[in-house]
Amino acid sequence: MLLIYFAAPRLWPEYRDLLPGLLAEAGLNAIVATEAPDPVAVDYIIYAPSAPLQDFTPFTRCKAVLSLWAGVERIVGNATLTQPLCRMVEDGLTEGMVEWVVGHALRHHLGMDRHIVNPGHVWHPTCPPLARERPVTMLGMGMLGVACARALAALNFPVTGWSRTTKDVPGIATTTDLPKALARAQIVVTLLPKTPETENLLNAETLALLPRGAVILNPGRGALIDDTALLAALDSDQIGHATLDVFRTEPLPPDHPFWSHPNVTVTPHIAADTRASGAARVLVENIRRGEAGEPFLNLVDRSRGY
Ligand code: NAP
Repeated sequence: MLLIYFAAPRLWPEYRDLLPGLLAEAGLNAIVATEAPDPVAVDYIIYAPSAPLQDFTPFTRCKAVLSLWAGVERIVGNATLTQPLCRMVEDGLTEGMVEWVVGHALRHHLGMDRHIVNPGHVWHPTCPPLARERPVTMLGMGMLGVACARALAALNFPVTGWSRTTKDVPGIATTTDLPKALARAQIVVTLLPKTPETENLLNAETLALLPRGAVILNPGRGALIDDTALLAALDSDQIGHATLDVFRTEPLPPDHPFWSHPNVTVTPHIAADTRASGAARVLVENIRRGEAGEPFLNLVDRSRGY
């Protein structure tokens, strides 16, 4: 069996070292390489949507394309990709996202900035409200949204989760009604995929539905938010702060107003990274399933776009 790695060259040594042992443990006899002189010989493609490979037509025998990324918007509409497409769901990615979301939610909840940057040495004796008095809304209740919602609920934040289909998650109020989800949210977290339906979901109209001074945390995708509407909402204090990890253009261009806005925090798409140690296990399990004729894990539904 031949597996080809079409992803970041800097990560190749980790996968090159991890995959052979895990494949052997699973009883799979496979060669893992970064080049395929004969595309017809390739059984599985390990893939990052940033890779130069965009034409999958020559890979006629390939049984699945296994993405190392959780977000697949760059590749999901590729007409040449007719093989099953699996996205990455991995414990390290989920844990990283939970830590980023909880850390930034607590920063805003506790008003930490006031004490960390205090050049005038001002004594600020104001106590923040308790978490149970700070409603949080999670836009997107998938793998990452549910994990973050649970972690915030465990700290007593009243969490409302919004998604396309109805959910039943103990301890979380769930809804498919967006205005209802936004009406009380003092902190909003966007963990949605980028699709035609979610693009500009947070726009002038929906930002106006939030309580005044609400905080936005966006580790989902840049296109979920209308940048111009967000900047206007920040300037009018309708939005108190936006902490953004993802952008329409990455790296965020040096002259983008987000860099200099006093109420925007930019993090450079680091909320959650795929860890090779966990990802390699997920890849091997999916290859094992493919060879055994079992359903793939984390299969992308192309009709939904995620
Ligand atoms: P997921 O399991 O596919 O969950 C997506 C969620 O979004 C689901 O709850 C889905 O609703 C909801 N959704 C999709 N379209 C919707 C719509 N039109 N209206 C309402 N809800 C909608 O994805 P995930 O693993 O949680 O990841 C979410 C996103 O995080 C990824 O797509 C990626 O863009 C981003 N991400 C960012 C980083 C980073 O480092 N910043 C890392 C990893 C992932 P249903 O449950 O009803 O289908």
